[in-house]
Amino acid sequence: MPKAMTGPTGLREAVVATARALHRSGLAEGTSGNISIRSGSTRSGSARSGEGFFITPTGVPYESLGAVQIVEVGVEGIVAQAQTHRPSSEWRIHRDIYRCRPEIGAVIHTHSPHATALACCRLGIPPFHYMVARAGSAGIPCAPYATFGTQLLSDHVLGALEGRRACLMANHGVTAVGAGLDQALEVAREVEYLAKIYSLTLQIGRPVLLSAEEMQDVQRRFRTYGQSDTGLRD
Ligand code: 13P
Ligand code: ZN
Repeated sequence: MPKAMTGPTGLREAVVATARALHRSGLAEGTSGNISIRSGSTRSGSARSGEGFFITPTGVPYESLGAVQIVEVGVEGIVAQAQTHRPSSEWRIHRDIYRCRPEIGAVIHTHSPHATALACCRLGIPPFHYMVARAGSAGIPCAPYATFGTQLLSDHVLGALEGRRACLMANHGVTAVGAGLDQALEVAREVEYLAKIYSLTLQIGRPVLLSAEEMQDVQRRFRTYGQSDTGLRD
């Protein structure tokens, strides 16, 4: 992320830009879903203290979202003074992910249509396609149901996200995480795409699932996939 994007104004603007991209992609309608970015850079290792995050306000439609409405929340969940808006009702999910997952720098929650349809049937996404490995595991589970905005929902989501980058939420939607906003957005888009294809396969019959070994092989390949590594391999 350019340096100008790392100050409070830059982080607020980055959250708004991601919210607009999410809305344009059809992954978020009205006031459904929320987005946050950790203040400070990500690092692996133990959980950090004294840092918080910037999150979308509760109940504000995507069309009217502006940078000044993005709310700063302390890592203990205390909202900094003199802010015009209240944070997303799901701030506990965002706070708990930042507390427990030091490698995560951004969180996106959506009600994207195909993934939410599966979640309403309390179905996760099994390894029916190799791209499921993009979520960081051999499957994308569906977290148990709890009322929106509650600590219980956050507990369920945190459990389902363990060791992966996405989970579905029963009768609700999706939570996707990444090192930064771009990666979290990519995961949220990928989950919706996979949910769409998985739903199609269920209409045809039953997809053939990839084995644990095949999925591990895919994950190994992903480590050198894309432009970050230009060395040619077989
Ligand atoms: P907020 O507007 O409070 O972020 O709520 C939207 C939502 O998706 C709740 O789960
Ligand atoms: Zn929601």
